[in-house]
Amino acid sequence: MRFDIITIFPEIITTYINESILKRARQKKIIQINVHNPRVNTQDKHRTVDDRPYGGGPGMILKFLPIYKTLQKIRKSKQTRIIMLTPGGKQYTQRDAERLSKYKQLILLAGRYEGFDARLDKFVDEKISVGPYVLSGGELPALILVESIARLKPGVLGDRASIIDETYSKDLNYVEYPQYTRPETVVIKGQKLSVPKILLSGNHQDIKNWRQKKAKKR
Ligand code: SAM
Repeated sequence: MRFDIITIFPEIITTYINESILKRARQKKIIQINVHNPRVNTQDKHRTVDDRPYGGGPGMILKFLPIYKTLQKIRKSKQTRIIMLTPGGKQYTQRDAERLSKYKQLILLAGRYEGFDARLDKFVDEKISVGPYVLSGGELPALILVESIARLKPGVLGDRASIIDETYSKDLNYVEYPQYTRPETVVIKGQKLSVPKILLSGNHQDIKNWRQKKAKKR
């Protein structure tokens, strides 16, 4: 699967994707992540990607043409999904991650300043928000999509079972049961914090039942 991220701050993306799971998934060629700076597609000597809003008002707007031209260059097929990251978009969920993981190519538009020239709306398939708050840029939202989608692809996680019982894996209200690891007991300021006995019992059916009981509906 291929991700193409359009951003005027490519290094925010490259720093993150060169670590941990995304780095390994790229090395294994399960995913490919390309980063494109729309500045390359400007003609003026200052390589301008933003300008003041028509009608006045604070801040700057990302210009139409540099982004449009970048989109035209990187779109590989009609099956490509083009997504604009914007706080006003549809709120992203695990179901969207599952749905989007079926595409061969996702193009993610990460904005800055006051956002995009609205004429770009015509050329995107959907608008996604990562939550009801405003960030300064779309790079973190783009990385949220990439990571949540990539980890669903076979071979990306060491143990595929990891995603089966996870929070949100069954429905959007499901919260995974509590997990513990060694040591069995820790003492903090005289208080003993112990692992539930049942998890040490070796009885797989009892452990399964306990976990089902402890998994919460929010
Ligand atoms: N003026 C815009 C508004 O009021 O909707 C906010 C622009 S925001 C400061 C700059 C960029 O950050 C946006 O173009 C978008 O790409 C990204 N962004 C900020 N918050 C986001 C969110 N919750 N979800 C997705 N993208 C977000």
